Amino acid sequence: MKKLALHWQILIGMVGGAIFGLIAAQFNMNQLVIDWIAPFGTIFVNLLKLIAVPLIIASLIKGVSDLEDISKLSQMGGKTILFYLITTVVAVTLGLLLVNIIQPGKLIEEDTRIELVEAYGGDAEAKILDAGKKKDQGPLQALEDLVPSNIFAAASDNGNMLQVIFFVIFFGIGIILIPDKKRRPVKEFFDSLNEVILKLIDLIMLFAPYGVFALLAKLIVESPSGDIFIALLGYGATVIAGLALMVFGFYPLIVKLFTGKSYSFFFKGIAPAQLLAFSTSSSAATLPVTMERVEEHLGVDEEVASFVLPIGATINMDGTSLYQAVAAVFIAQAFNIDLSIGAQLGIILTATLASIGSAAVPSAGIVMLVIVLAQAGIPEAGIALIFAVDRPLDMCRTVVNVTGDATVAMSVAKSENKLGDPHVKDWDDHYQKEENS
Ligand code: ASP
Repeated sequence: MKKLALHWQILIGMVGGAIFGLIAAQFNMNQLVIDWIAPFGTIFVNLLKLIAVPLIIASLIKGVSDLEDISKLSQMGGKTILFYLITTVVAVTLGLLLVNIIQPGKLIEEDTRIELVEAYGGDAEAKILDAGKKKDQGPLQALEDLVPSNIFAAASDNGNMLQVIFFVIFFGIGIILIPDKKRRPVKEFFDSLNEVILKLIDLIMLFAPYGVFALLAKLIVESPSGDIFIALLGYGATVIAGLALMVFGFYPLIVKLFTGKSYSFFFKGIAPAQLLAFSTSSSAATLPVTMERVEEHLGVDEEVASFVLPIGATINMDGTSLYQAVAAVFIAQAFNIDLSIGAQLGIILTATLASIGSAAVPSAGIVMLVIVLAQAGIPEAGIALIFAVDRPLDMCRTVVNVTGDATVAMSVAKSENKLGDPHVKDWDDHYQKEENS
C-alpha cells in the first residue's frame, strides 16, 4: 500500500489528537488522557531532545571541519549572524506596527483584566522570579556564559546548547588547523557518527504521528475554558496575524529573492518541521527534523546546514521577538499606559536581545518577556493577562522560529554557492518515494 508523506501523517496525528482530546474532555475522561496517552507525547519529545546534543556535536564538527580554512568559517559566521539579526528586527518591527494599528489592549474590559490578574497572578509570579535571576546579572554575563568550564557538564544540560556550540566550533577549528593526515581519523569518526545519528532521527520520526497525537490530546484536555480565549481574542489574533505574515509573506519572499526557489518548493520541504514545531513548542526538539528537511529537501549543503541551523535554533527566534513586542504593548494598552516612540524603539532592542536569550523550549519566551516589560516600564505582573493563551501562541511562534532558521540557511547557502537540488538520502527513503510520486 502507498504510504502517506510524512507531513500528512503528522497532520493526521495532530488533528486526530485534537479531536480525541475534545471528545475526552466532553466525556470527562481527562485523567485517562493524562495517564495513558500523554506519556507517549513526552516520550516522543524526550527522544527528540535526547538526540539534539549528539546531533549538534556530530554535525557541527563535521560541518566546521569540512571548511577549508578559518576565513571561510568567519565569513559564514558573520553572514549567519547578520541575517539572523535582520530577520529578528523585521519581526519585532512588524509586531509593533500591528499592535499599534489593531490596539487589542483597548478591547480588554476592566473586569476581565482584574479577573485574569487574579486567576493567573501566581503563575506570573513564578515566571517573574525566573526572569529576575537573569536580570540581576552583569552586562557581560551572556558572553561569560558562552564559555563552559567543563564540556561534559555543558553537554549534560539541554539548556546549555550555546556552550556546546562554542566548544564544538572551537574543536572544529582545531581540526582545520592540523595536517590532513593527522585529522583524517577524527574527521572520519565524526562523519560516521553523524550518519548514525541521522539514522536514529529517521527511526524517531516513524513515531512522530503517534507522538503528536498524544501531545495534542493532552494539550486540549488541559487547556483553560473558552471564555478566557474570547476575552483575549484580539491579542491572540494580533500575534497570529504577525506570525502568519512572517511565515506566508516575509520568509517565502526572502527565499524567492535570494535563492529563486518557489513558494511550494519551500513549504513542501519545510512542512514536517513546521508541524513538529507546532506540536512540541520547542525549536530545540525540532532541530533534528529541521536539519534533515533543510539538507535533504531544500538542497542546503550539509556544511552550511550543520553550522547555521544549530546556532539558529538557539539564538534566532523571530516568532518569539514578534510576540514579545505585541505582548508588551498589549499589556501597556490594557493598563492604559502610553508608550512613547522612544519606549517602543527600546522594545525593538530588548525584544531582539530577549529572543536571542530565550531558550529553545516551551514557554521560554514568556520568561524573557518579563525583562522586556521591565525595561519599558510596564508592570511585570501584566503577564498574568496573557498567560491563558500563551501555549497556543507558543506553538505558533515556534513554527516561525524554525521557518526563520530554514530561510536563513537557504540564503546563506545560496550566497556561499552551496544550495543544490534536494537529495534525499537513504535514511529518509521510505518517505521520499511517496513525496516524489
Ligand atoms: N518555544 C519557543 C521555541 O522553542 C521559544 C518561546 O517560548 O518563544 O522556539
